Amino acid sequence: MYHRFDEIKYPSTNIREEQLVSHLTYLKDQGFKFILVKDLLFPDKLQEKSISITIDDAYLSFYEVGLPVFEKFEVPVTLFLNTENIGGQNYMSWGQLKDALNRGVDIQNHTHSHSSLPTLNELEIANEIEKSQKLILENLGITPNLFAYPFGENSSTAQNVVSQYFDAAFGQHSGAFSINQKYFIPRFPLNENYGSIDRIKDASSVLPFNNVDIQPSNPYQIEPITRYVLDFQEDASNINCFISDFQGSFNQTTTNLSSKLLIELNRLPVKGRLRFNCTKVNNGIFWFGYQYLIN
Ligand SMILES: [Zn+2]
Repeated sequence: MYHRFDEIKYPSTNIREEQLVSHLTYLKDQGFKFILVKDLLFPDKLQEKSISITIDDAYLSFYEVGLPVFEKFEVPVTLFLNTENIGGQNYMSWGQLKDALNRGVDIQNHTHSHSSLPTLNELEIANEIEKSQKLILENLGITPNLFAYPFGENSSTAQNVVSQYFDAAFGQHSGAFSINQKYFIPRFPLNENYGSIDRIKDASSVLPFNNVDIQPSNPYQIEPITRYVLDFQEDASNINCFISDFQGSFNQTTTNLSSKLLIELNRLPVKGRLRFNCTKVNNGIFWFGYQYLIN
């Protein structure tokens, strides 16, 4: 996942053009097959070493800097669009979006106002979706079937509403794609701070676990808790989980009960994002990621 291109004022969402070129050169050299995220949903289109690239927010720098690089490398990309900003300063215009669409960019939905959905009620979430779908249809003549949560922030309520309009939805937490997490698919953010070749090597080499159940399952938590249960549906004894929030990483007590890990954190998570990253090394790195938003 990328956001901005050559906008060095924003290192946490920017990638420099030479970094992007180095990423695409590496991935092409390694024989990765680039497919659109919408094709990830069809298992028969998935081959070994499939990879998808997405861009969020439709900044002008994608159109001016990023898109020509992706075209040069013949890499198809998906753009998740929040419609309220279109035509504003540093954002693409509808004319530029139409041009990008004609040049093969897959355009999908990222709400109208880019609000964090867990703080909205069902009706407000539905309004965000309907307003943006309408604008996209009117201006581009297409109806998106995929969605990306603003800030990667999701809740059970948001997920329910989103599933009534879209075939799949994406977060912003690290992890390998799995069809079993259809409405909270992870993506590896790539930016100036996390944009080295080692980062792209790690991100492109990860594999998904078959299926993981995490409890609590609601990614939005109003009352923070210290106890979590992950069921990997396989022997979990070689799986390690790294958990962090804005205050840093947690010390934790992990109890392994066959396919399950019971994790007790040494302190309550603070307000904001709480991230789980669980990995197993076995002929490759298997990676499960999850993100909670603590109110
Ligand atoms: Zn966004």
